Amino acid sequence: MAIHEACGVFGVVCPEPADVGRIVYYGLYALQHRGQESCGIVVNDDGVFASHKDLGLVGEVFNRDILDRLPRGTMAVGHTRYGTTGAASRRNCQPIEVNHQKGHMALAHNGNLSNAAELRDKLELSGAIFHTTSDTETIAYIVTGERLTAPSIEEALSRAMKCLEGAYSLVLMSPQKLICARDPRGFRPLCYGRLPDGGYVAASESCALRAVGAEFIRDLEPGEILIFQNGEVTSRREHCGKYRPTPCIFEYIYFSRPDSVIDGVSVHAARLRAGELLAREHPAEADVVVGVPDSGLDAALGYSRASGIPYGIGLIKNKYIGRTFIAPGQEHRLDQVRLKLSAVEETVAGKRVVLVDDSIVRGTTSGRISSLLREAGAREIHLRVSAPPFLNPCYYGTDIDSQENLIACCHSSEEIARVIGVDTLGYLPVSALRQLTGSPFCCDACFTGHYPTTVPSDLRKDRFECC
Ligand code: SF4
Repeated sequence: MAIHEACGVFGVVCPEPADVGRIVYYGLYALQHRGQESCGIVVNDDGVFASHKDLGLVGEVFNRDILDRLPRGTMAVGHTRYGTTGAASRRNCQPIEVNHQKGHMALAHNGNLSNAAELRDKLELSGAIFHTTSDTETIAYIVTGERLTAPSIEEALSRAMKCLEGAYSLVLMSPQKLICARDPRGFRPLCYGRLPDGGYVAASESCALRAVGAEFIRDLEPGEILIFQNGEVTSRREHCGKYRPTPCIFEYIYFSRPDSVIDGVSVHAARLRAGELLAREHPAEADVVVGVPDSGLDAALGYSRASGIPYGIGLIKNKYIGRTFIAPGQEHRLDQVRLKLSAVEETVAGKRVVLVDDSIVRGTTSGRISSLLREAGAREIHLRVSAPPFLNPCYYGTDIDSQENLIACCHSSEEIARVIGVDTLGYLPVSALRQLTGSPFCCDACFTGHYPTTVPSDLRKDRFECC
């Protein structure tokens, strides 16, 4: 599995000066799965911003000294990032900080604007000079431009939202306010909760609220803007109901943590359901059901429960392989998958195995996992995938790639099974996706090609990076 979500956002506001940098640090740790390339924290100390951002995991970028050097304050925002072009760069680290005519702001963004190229071209033609390749800077430019005539930063953001298309969950900090916004289609999640001391936190996922001891209040509605100021929370809904919400279905299948609840639906429960539906659609004569860690485990449990085939721990993941892991070069002839995963012989030897994974992109990783199981003595392998085949790129903040890199675009299921080396292969049908969340609407464009927005005319996904 080689798909990446492209960012997690977190914000906190407290009634009195507090160690808000540390609160964000713990929140970002819980959102690490949403982005492992870079991270950053900006603290608001009575209107003065102090920040630390760098390439690396949260645990690599921040240490005790760095956290101690961040001042106490009443607000802070943070970000974990995965850039989609691979050009890891410090200048693209977030939150972005901007000085403008009416003050300054820090902005953290999860998502990708589907009209980013068009907006950036327009800004560049009017003289704007960009310092990053991320579309978050485009959002910052438009908001600060609107702020010149708008009576408040939230009004400027609301005006900016009229021209933004695509996916954006934002956490914005001004000297006086913390502001959160979710795009009118609600592609990416965003929720908020209350801290025991009366403060508030906002985060991409509810797991990050729990991590800092906050009580979940609710998800932001698609199109909603929330303003936190002087202990009050104000909601603006002028962009709500503008479009039919189309939250990303792949958040449930793969991106989000299973202990998160998004728009009222438990990610763990959605994955169990995917496994159950998969068992009904693609039954198999088998002895054991094995999930590919981590995000295939819940669906494997669902498959096992629905089919009555025992669940087994057949693959173990090395949890300590992170971004800094030095991949073996050609001369070592070592397989990266082998270093990350190993098969449990006890579970699979001599058995007919149902292997459950959350997706197949190029097929390379699935092929290596099937080899591991064969070497450990698996007699048969029946691969079941808890998502439909990827047929289209994503323009809303993930790195699901162009069609030439998606194996399902040019091979039938039988051909893919042969390439991967499994006996049978079954995908979750598109028609089952709605049952995962119980909602009749979601974005499933990477499976169906039905994009909820117009997609860029320049189909090069890497023209700009997303966040
Ligand atoms: Fe999610 Fe796929 Fe839609 Fe992208 S295209 S937002 S990954 S469902």
